[in-house]
Amino acid sequence: MAQAEALVTVRPEGLYCPAGDFYIDPWRPVARAVITHAHADHARRGHGAYLAQHASAPLLRARLGADLTLQTLAYGETVQLGGVRLSLHPAGHVLGSAQVRLEHRGQVWVVSGDYKLDDDGLSTPFEPVRCHTFITESTFGLPIYRWPPAAEVLHQLLAWWHDNAAQGRTSVLYAYGLGKAQRVLAALQRQGAHGPGPLLVHEAVQPINAAYRAAGAPLSDVSSLGELTDRCLLRRALLVAPPAAQGGAALRRLGDPAEGQASGWMRVRGQRRRRGLEQGFVLSDHADWPALLRAIAATGAERVLVTHGQVAPLVRYLQEQGLDAHALATEYGDEELVEHPVAESLA
Ligand SMILES: [Zn+2]
Ligand SMILES: [Zn+2]
Repeated sequence: MAQAEALVTVRPEGLYCPAGDFYIDPWRPVARAVITHAHADHARRGHGAYLAQHASAPLLRARLGADLTLQTLAYGETVQLGGVRLSLHPAGHVLGSAQVRLEHRGQVWVVSGDYKLDDDGLSTPFEPVRCHTFITESTFGLPIYRWPPAAEVLHQLLAWWHDNAAQGRTSVLYAYGLGKAQRVLAALQRQGAHGPGPLLVHEAVQPINAAYRAAGAPLSDVSSLGELTDRCLLRRALLVAPPAAQGGAALRRLGDPAEGQASGWMRVRGQRRRRGLEQGFVLSDHADWPALLRAIAATGAERVLVTHGQVAPLVRYLQEQGLDAHALATEYGDEELVEHPVAESLA
């Protein structure tokens, strides 16, 4: 296919669709932005008009302002933008996350945004979309990244919590505030009364929990850390907090808590040590290596453009499989690393 027919190109502002005159998750201010999901590296401030999936609306408004010019679509609903028929399809990453399907003159392109194939019980599960060209993320695009089953990780987490409670130490689990925290909370709530003490959440996570509940996600109310005054109960509690809360004032009253983190990066040994964590739980909202390959195959795409993370190894692997695969330079980070104090040292 000639370059002139490309449905998506890279401009200094971001991924651009010439036939429809709009950008997808642009990193510089533009007139019209289609947003795949509400994480900070995808949904930035300053665009003229935003288009996103329905369930993203409260998250985007909370982050970027209530007065946002925002149009929303249901999954599968189509709109015509210039010469392009556009629709959004579930990406299974976080609440409201979407793949963007673009159709123009018989060509179909899909921009994945971030995605995972596992059903987290909260966001609408990933749906493969057939296309000619697939633009995929590859945050964990290396064969070493293989996630254990989520049920196994939850089991480890409960065992850890019990151990800590038996020693009279509060458990603090760091989990990214949008997506991961809700996933952990909902999974623990589904376990019912199996924890040794109360389940608590850092105040910063409450507005996001509220947005999840407003969208109908099965997540019950959780008390904030500040609401629990009984010191005895506090020592048996599990607190879910964003990684940025580590070392902050809110956590100081916990004395000597046991600290762990839930992240795909916990698969990398040095990451846990570097943050001074006793325990790492491998739980990611991104596809692991086998899931990336499965998702790419399911699109039936002949051409795959790889962005975001471990690009070169995945491009090479796909080329060896006979696909027309290329790297696409973008400015997305990984939300979990962006929030880490260690992110700078890794850059
Ligand atoms: Zn994301
Ligand atoms: Zn991302």
